Amino acid sequence: FAPWDDPDRSPLIHFKSVTKRFGDFVAVDRVDLPIYEREFHALLGPSGCGKTTLMRMLAGFEEPSEGDVLLDGRSLKGVPPYRRPVNMMFQSYALFPHMSVEKNVAFGLKQDGMAKSEIGDRVAEMLKLVRLEQFAKRKPHQLSGGQRQRVALARSLAKKPRVLLLDEPLGALDKKLREATQFELTDLQVELGMTFLIVTHDQEEAMTVADRIAVMDQGAIRQVATPSEIYEQPSSRYVADFIGDINIVEGRIEPGANGVTRLVAPDSGLVIETEQTLDEIPETAWYAIRPEKLRVSLDEPSEASVNTVSGEIWDIAYLGDVSIYHVKLDDGTVVRATTANTTRLVERPISWDDRVWLSWDRTAGIILTR
Ligand code: ATP
Repeated sequence: FAPWDDPDRSPLIHFKSVTKRFGDFVAVDRVDLPIYEREFHALLGPSGCGKTTLMRMLAGFEEPSEGDVLLDGRSLKGVPPYRRPVNMMFQSYALFPHMSVEKNVAFGLKQDGMAKSEIGDRVAEMLKLVRLEQFAKRKPHQLSGGQRQRVALARSLAKKPRVLLLDEPLGALDKKLREATQFELTDLQVELGMTFLIVTHDQEEAMTVADRIAVMDQGAIRQVATPSEIYEQPSSRYVADFIGDINIVEGRIEPGANGVTRLVAPDSGLVIETEQTLDEIPETAWYAIRPEKLRVSLDEPSEASVNTVSGEIWDIAYLGDVSIYHVKLDDGTVVRATTANTTRLVERPISWDDRVWLSWDRTAGIILTR
């Protein structure tokens, strides 16, 4: 089972109550985060939330103002970057423009005083790994963006660090190439059996590559979990809203019988039933449901059923694989519902101004208390 669920397992990397201040500004705020060997871990959050600063403290480019970063249980305090078994690949790639691909990859090994024959073998191994063997003699400007990215990757892996740090590594690539490269990165990480830590503000990227994601906001970590847990069981409105699309209704909680909890929205009178049990009943709570968990129907349900609401189609976006509907409820609230286009849409089944019924299961959404 997963190392983060194993109480006997100690982490490879451990950020322990790490704070980083720049003057009065708190860039990283008491972060506690264990990362395990062979994990692909993502730091995800909006621009300026402190994710790069957190990563730079592991690389040794910044020292914590308070707290400690441990590797294998040992403090990294005072250990210079080049002495840490960690390598960072930058978004800019920082390739030497006048050096060939192989010289770029060999650079760090040469500086470390590795024997020439060994360097040759290692460079060949790395270029094979990223499928650039036939480009060894080219200069960076003679390569495509994707190839340059792979040179940078080969160079940062050449010393076989224990941890590879990736700072927005795919930002410069177009969408298709970026998606393909995300899968290549996960394959590579599994093949090498290495620990990867990636910084990204792109939630799809984090969900594609990572085993676990730490969602950050204003220097603090809001939730650490697997992609599906983050998406299906967000711990707060912040996380729910940051990841993907979601509808959120505020209301008060009424504990019901038989394991059913109700949320009543005061303005619309909407009553939502869930099977979620709460440890404590808060004054206010929020019901959050993803657009794809709503069923959209042109027919009124035959019997008065719970978790049903009607409204008018206000807007439609046809995206090919899915259609997004904006449904205006009678109280004016606009709800987003997504349906998968599982058959070829020859005729549009639902159009503007149609009255539709939205319905959902008791287990489809989640009550959030903060
Ligand atoms: P982005 O995705 O835009 O890179 P980020 O989440 O990686 O954002 P950081 O680069 O970690 O954010 O920066 C966090 C905050 O700390 C920002 O407000 C930034 O301006 C500030 N900051 C970072 N480095 C320094 C520095 N050397 N001196 C002063 N402030 C800094």
